[in-house]
Amino acid sequence: IVQWTPFFQTYKKQRYPWVQLAGHQGNFKAGPEPGTVLKKLCPKEEECFQILMQDLLRPYVPVYKGQVTSEDGELYLQLQDLLSDYVQPCVMDCKVGVRTYLEEELSKAKEKPKLRKDMYDKMIQIDGHAPTAEEHAAKAVTKPRYMVWRETISSTATLGFRIEGIKKSDGTSSKDFKTTKSREQIKLAFVEFLSGHPHILPRYIQRLRAIRATLAVSEFFQTHEVIGSSLLFVHDQTHASIWLIDFAKTVELPPQLRIDHYSAWKVGNHEDGYLIGINNLIDIFVELQAA
Ligand code: ATP
Ligand code: MG
Ligand code: MG
Repeated sequence: IVQWTPFFQTYKKQRYPWVQLAGHQGNFKAGPEPGTVLKKLCPKEEECFQILMQDLLRPYVPVYKGQVTSEDGELYLQLQDLLSDYVQPCVMDCKVGVRTYLEEELSKAKEKPKLRKDMYDKMIQIDGHAPTAEEHAAKAVTKPRYMVWRETISSTATLGFRIEGIKKSDGTSSKDFKTTKSREQIKLAFVEFLSGHPHILPRYIQRLRAIRATLAVSEFFQTHEVIGSSLLFVHDQTHASIWLIDFAKTVELPPQLRIDHYSAWKVGNHEDGYLIGINNLIDIFVELQAA
């Protein structure tokens, strides 16, 4: 049982352990106003939240309440705490898209691709057959090679999303989804996430469809490459919702460039596969409902 509770949150006289399913410990704090959390400031992410507060997607993202300086002088974004209206919620973070690094991170890694022994070691720990004969001989791989390969060990490259973490209302949690790859494995994880709350499934499907319909008309979505962003699923006995979070790696598209978020990614075309992930999530949840 893994527990990741960086702090206790207080809201409407209730005190509850806040849940963080991804990112560095220390990136989040309780907010100064009730029902808010603080996330370490990243200027790119702040810019996204500012645009999103004026976009059609606004109902699907946490409300952004501006910058806050903590006692230790660090800058934070003050965000709506998406857990505050729930009683002992079940929470799941799904990272959306067919890759989780930026085009520029890949091209930077390609500039002087040194052979990396540490990355080779990580690779064979997961799959001894992954390296080529050459790579085995060198006992090393290059960083760009490792970056592209890493997206294929989970469902990211094939389904356009992966599970980052799940916490159930009984307190049990798991972040051990790095190699959860097949549709069947994903389905099992979703069934477990929903167990005891079957009535929540149609709510999630409805919310995912509303998100897809809104993405289709969102100016923000038309003009941004959305990388490393997640959908946060939250439910308890009585209600359920899904929000778009984490825009630290979401960047404006180069001028004149348009993507459809669905076409295959090729180096340089900026496609993120965001809608591949949304469509697969909807299909899988619909299959679970039919089962
Ligand atoms: P990474 O880039 O590794 O995914 P990060 O530091 O950018 O992490 P986020 O992904 O934004 O951080 O958030 C990490 C976790 O914190 C989420 O998985 C979720 O559990 C929780 N979280 C983030 N924002 C909120 C919010 N507004 N309300 C409730 N929970 C949140
Ligand atoms: Mg994240
Ligand atoms: Mg992030």
